[in-house]
Amino acid sequence: MSTMSFTLHGIPVSHGIAIGRAHLLAPAALEVAHYLVEKSEIDCEVERLDEAVATVVNELYQVEAELSKGAPAEFAALLELHRLILQDPLLSEEPARLVRERRYNAEWALTTQLRAAVEQFDAIDDEFFASRRADVEQVVERVLKVLTGSATTLADVASEVLSKAAAHTEARERAMHDRDLDAMIVVAHDIAPADMLQFKKKVFAGFATDLGSATAHTAILARSLDIPAVVGLGQASRLLRQDEYVIIDGEAGVVIVDPSPIVLDEYRLRRRDLDLGRDKLKRLARMATKTLDEIPIELLANIELPGDCAFANEVGAAGIGLYRTEFLFMNRESLPGEEEQFEAYRSVVAAMSGRPVTIRTLDIGADKTLHGAARGEYSGDTFNTTNPALGLRAIRYCLAEPQMFLEQLRAILRASAFGSVKLLIPMLAHAHEIDATLALIATAKTQLDALGLAYDHELPVGGMIEIPAAALTVGMFAKRLDFFSIGTNDLIQYTLAIDRTDNAVVHLYDPLHPAVLQLIANTIATGARLGLPVSVCGEMAGDVGLVRLLLGLGLKQFSMHPAQLLAVKQEVLRSDLAQCEALAKKILAAVEPERIHTLVERLRSA
Ligand code: PEP
Ligand code: MG
Repeated sequence: MSTMSFTLHGIPVSHGIAIGRAHLLAPAALEVAHYLVEKSEIDCEVERLDEAVATVVNELYQVEAELSKGAPAEFAALLELHRLILQDPLLSEEPARLVRERRYNAEWALTTQLRAAVEQFDAIDDEFFASRRADVEQVVERVLKVLTGSATTLADVASEVLSKAAAHTEARERAMHDRDLDAMIVVAHDIAPADMLQFKKKVFAGFATDLGSATAHTAILARSLDIPAVVGLGQASRLLRQDEYVIIDGEAGVVIVDPSPIVLDEYRLRRRDLDLGRDKLKRLARMATKTLDEIPIELLANIELPGDCAFANEVGAAGIGLYRTEFLFMNRESLPGEEEQFEAYRSVVAAMSGRPVTIRTLDIGADKTLHGAARGEYSGDTFNTTNPALGLRAIRYCLAEPQMFLEQLRAILRASAFGSVKLLIPMLAHAHEIDATLALIATAKTQLDALGLAYDHELPVGGMIEIPAAALTVGMFAKRLDFFSIGTNDLIQYTLAIDRTDNAVVHLYDPLHPAVLQLIANTIATGARLGLPVSVCGEMAGDVGLVRLLLGLGLKQFSMHPAQLLAVKQEVLRSDLAQCEALAKKILAAVEPERIHTLVERLRSA
């Protein structure tokens, strides 16, 4: 079963090179129809489900019967395993129960159970079980194909299973002299940020997706995981086979499938060079961050979960510049209460040992959605809007749910008694939103006073500048707030009307668009004039190629994922602020994209 090597091109979103075996996430689970079955149709629907399962079991028996004597032993073993999976009550009984009790259609019931089964496998910290998870997905996908009438022939079943068996055999043989074959590369059509978050627990070496863009939260999480990633590959999940050998080149945005030994050797060398480079950078972790002309610069870390603080400390972050608290609210049936939030926030404060921690209030909405019951706990239909990025997202959602928001504000305030905490509000556009938020903070303080609970009475409150309206009226914001943090990801999205998650318009997402640069420059200059600290916590802050431009615009605080911090630090240490300022002025005055790009390049190599 040999394949031909081929290369796929996409968008590099997280640096490095990963070599390993493809671990396909079943796309079918994401694409089935969801509807409620009429009561009178329930028996028919259960029958339809049972028949589909029986069809696949029969197919597997038939393939086994036709199995030639020379076929690898793994082939028969896999057929039996797939049959056993289908006969497990988790798949043979539970989906039928979902049809009967919840009136789910057969496909929906099956994929719901697939998720439950996958979660069970994920909970087991064992490589053997991790690889069995792929078998469960493959089997369920086969049943779904039968249900939806898209099943292929028996020969296809045989070839699917055979290719998997062959890949297993080949992989094992090669693994004897190659540790890379133990590494797993996630390959999927698309991955939701909530699902991506679950990978924090797992040891994947890299990931590749058909869809995606550089500033969607899925890509942001890949950077936070510090694993090489390429998105926007188009057909990767269709073209790659389970366990196939792949190289993820997170530098060039390329995925090489079944590479030749020469290409593999070349990539191993490149990976070793990159590892050496990273090791060298580690020496910078304890050095002061200042420009060549001795101007101190603060480099802070972006985190999603308390556990991320370890990496932030390892690279010597000056504090947490952005704690995206919404990730505590995802992948769960009910929302975290005040105590759970307080413990999470306090643990971050403790982990940073006195260094500042900027906790951003819930920025739910757009591509960051809630699950299951948690989703319906408050405004049920909040996320089912046509343009969720323009909808009831972030502060708009929080102000619509004051009780939930008050719980979070109290939890943050209580954590402020244990260290240096700043509170950051996302997606502000209107003065009344700030006023309403400040009023709720005052209420939360009164409630804590009544309970005798401690908090920092001077807790600084800042606003994200990520909507053009905010960047254009930043003076009005300055009257009400203590600091600003520029969210370039959304600022670019909203300025250029580019959905940051839509890879059809990814080519239009341009941090160097003169309109974007004007808005950033205006925010930094106004902050400096009025004496308010300004940071950038969007992905631009972690882009080494843009560090000098931001320095030249007057930025003194950069917040990014820990994985990017030392490379950015190296760039700061090599930069002359006066020189950066002179060139940044020219860049701001330019309107032609070509000239802007030439000047940014010149600034980078100055
Ligand atoms: C941003 O918009 O730049 C930002 C930092 O927030 P998020 O990416 O979480 O929307
Ligand atoms: Mg944002």
